[in-house]
Amino acid sequence: MAAQTLHLGWHNPVRITWGHGALHTLALEQATVVLADRAALSPAQESLLRKQLGSHCVGWAWYEGGLATVEKARQLCRALWPAMQRQTGTTVMALGGGSTLDLAKALRYRLADTALCARTWRNNELPLVFERHPLWLLPTTAGTGSEVTRWATLWDTEVQPAVKLSWSPPDGFAERALVDPDLTLSCPLPQSRDCALDTLAHALESLWNKKRNPMTEALALEAARIVIAQLPLLLQAQDAHAPRIALARASLLAGLAMSQTQTALAHALSYDLTLHENMPHGHACAVWLPMVWELAQEASSACAALLERVFQDASAPGARQLHQWLLGLDVSPRDLRTTLDGRERLSLELGSARGRNFIGSPTTAG
Ligand SMILES: [Zn+2]
Repeated sequence: MAAQTLHLGWHNPVRITWGHGALHTLALEQATVVLADRAALSPAQESLLRKQLGSHCVGWAWYEGGLATVEKARQLCRALWPAMQRQTGTTVMALGGGSTLDLAKALRYRLADTALCARTWRNNELPLVFERHPLWLLPTTAGTGSEVTRWATLWDTEVQPAVKLSWSPPDGFAERALVDPDLTLSCPLPQSRDCALDTLAHALESLWNKKRNPMTEALALEAARIVIAQLPLLLQAQDAHAPRIALARASLLAGLAMSQTQTALAHALSYDLTLHENMPHGHACAVWLPMVWELAQEASSACAALLERVFQDASAPGARQLHQWLLGLDVSPRDLRTTLDGRERLSLELGSARGRNFIGSPTTAG
């Protein structure tokens, strides 16, 4: 076989602390503001955290649920920037699901005035004057992988129709991620299901991606297999500790793969369902996965071979097995190929920012 040069181009500077009890290893020596999801922290966890932070905690704000909108991000900037301004290098620490972590990614770039926020995020371009604060991310759901990616989703509901913004400054990675599976224990089962489906979507989107490489393939394959084996166990289990630990690991691995490849067609198609059908993100991605799997198989034999390794049971095509697996979780897959409108929508999304990353898109990757 001829020698090949692999251009991995791997870049992920996030310092990751993983495992049971990671939260207890927090040792702060600098001023910190906290953004936390109120539903995700138990009173005991909150008081432990406040005790650990002590006088280093100079500000605290709650995320109260809902989409991560431009308006919500601006309100948080108004609440926390005055405290961050008092001391250069104040760390932003966020604990929560993907929306909380994404809001923190916007908040950590402190601008001269909150009046500049919307324009900055809409144009995805920082003004000349700003301070980039250190960012520590602690996920409390196993799903989004946001703790190891450099971009954030913000919904701009101040324009009609509302649009999804991708805030992605070049140095947008967090300094640290603390992934403690114990923080996911209180996550309700329906939300845990949707978050794990998001992990599966990140893994598969990374496999049928133009930017995939041997490292992202290995991470994504492992993550996909874990979700497929462990999510049904989580939903049936009396004692769900072991599946939760496994799913937290899968989320991190898929996040690392996605941090290099970005997402692709299933994500591109999902945003409409989240906005107009109020469907949670992971669910909205999952409904498209069997269709996109088949499209990927048709587009690339190398990708088809990779996908066949996801289910280690060769008795039926992988896309069909995935379809059945999703039905077993009360998720009904959708297919756009059966109607003219659907095929037009598909071809439109294949040219979108995320759709272009898909192996079957005729347009250059975004
Ligand atoms: Zn996602």
